[in-house]
Amino acid sequence: SSTATQAALDASKLVIHKTENPKQKLPNEKLVFGRSFTDHMLEVPWHKTSGWGTPVIKPYGNITLDPSAIVFHYAFELFEGMKAYKDAKGHIRIFRPDKNMTRMNKSASRICLPTFDSEELIKLIGELLKLDKSFIPDQRGYSLYIRPTMIGTTTGLGVHAPEDALLYVVCSPVGPYYSTGFKAVRLEATDYAVRAWPGGVGDKKLGANYAPSVKPQLEAASRGYQQNLWLFGPDKHVTEVGTMNFFVAFQDKNGKKELVTAPLDGMILEGVTRDSILNLCKEKLDKSEWTISERYCSIKEIQEKAQKGEVLEAFGSGTAAVVSPVKEIGYDGQHIKIPLLPGEEAGALTKQIAQWIAERQYGIVESDWSRVI
Ligand code: PMP
Repeated sequence: SSTATQAALDASKLVIHKTENPKQKLPNEKLVFGRSFTDHMLEVPWHKTSGWGTPVIKPYGNITLDPSAIVFHYAFELFEGMKAYKDAKGHIRIFRPDKNMTRMNKSASRICLPTFDSEELIKLIGELLKLDKSFIPDQRGYSLYIRPTMIGTTTGLGVHAPEDALLYVVCSPVGPYYSTGFKAVRLEATDYAVRAWPGGVGDKKLGANYAPSVKPQLEAASRGYQQNLWLFGPDKHVTEVGTMNFFVAFQDKNGKKELVTAPLDGMILEGVTRDSILNLCKEKLDKSEWTISERYCSIKEIQEKAQKGEVLEAFGSGTAAVVSPVKEIGYDGQHIKIPLLPGEEAGALTKQIAQWIAERQYGIVESDWSRVI
């Protein structure tokens, strides 16, 4: 059968064409997220009958496609976001790349783009990182953002499964999200626009999920809020914040604490940072004091608990910032205040989590999560 002859993604076939025009590197303090890229990119073509083609690392540059290519019309596009870090010994480490690869395969499968062996793509990305190692800043807080992408490239109009695809990876050196320490944000609870819904694709990292989120973000910004707090359903439960997962910590009258985040019900992205936080908190927080819950939490519950002084802290979680503290939520004309100590921009748990994760990303604390390349 034709499937039997489809080649698997194979890192051992890699061909490398080095650049003859190395870029001038920006000083660390000039780095802006996603604005400058390394010298090289990885590309792997796929065709329905032959399968995965030869992986090529080549100078970073334009992709040429026919204007009728299926990606431009019907949004056959998905992406990932993960980071590489340089540790104290100068080794390159990637944080939990297997999780991103699993998620990437789920995204691909949902829009009829080809799946692949995760470990092969991790090896290929490793080769790209080794070649562009000098772009990975070694200062704490700095890293190399890795953007694996897949597009359908079949030419001709008509909605159908792509017969051709291109997998590519570009990398951008980035600085700390908060260059001058944490900065707590204000969120606008949003129910007039819905980010994801049951049976939808909100749990996949498809480009098509992101374009429609920008207008509500601009509307929130026009009212003085940095991000949307996406609500869902008749009970208006909180799902995500902007492009991050959302956590809130409560403390009841008896001193019992609960860390709450939305469950993986198909309507939130399965954040790698979210998973890391849940694991670390289950392992490290005192069980007699804390409950870690993946459950629905309505905006009313947050509002009522805030009024009773039972909200401890709230934050978003994602690869870019790790954690992003929240100081206020605007909902229904009200301002729900999330307490912060005077002069502080993040709560104690938020800061503790940021430290636990950074220690693992930079290899200060050894962990299976940190892959040395
Ligand atoms: N939710 C959405 C919608 C996102 O785009 C992201 C960023 N990938 C996240 C959550 C956080 O996921 P991660 O921790 O894997 O970066």
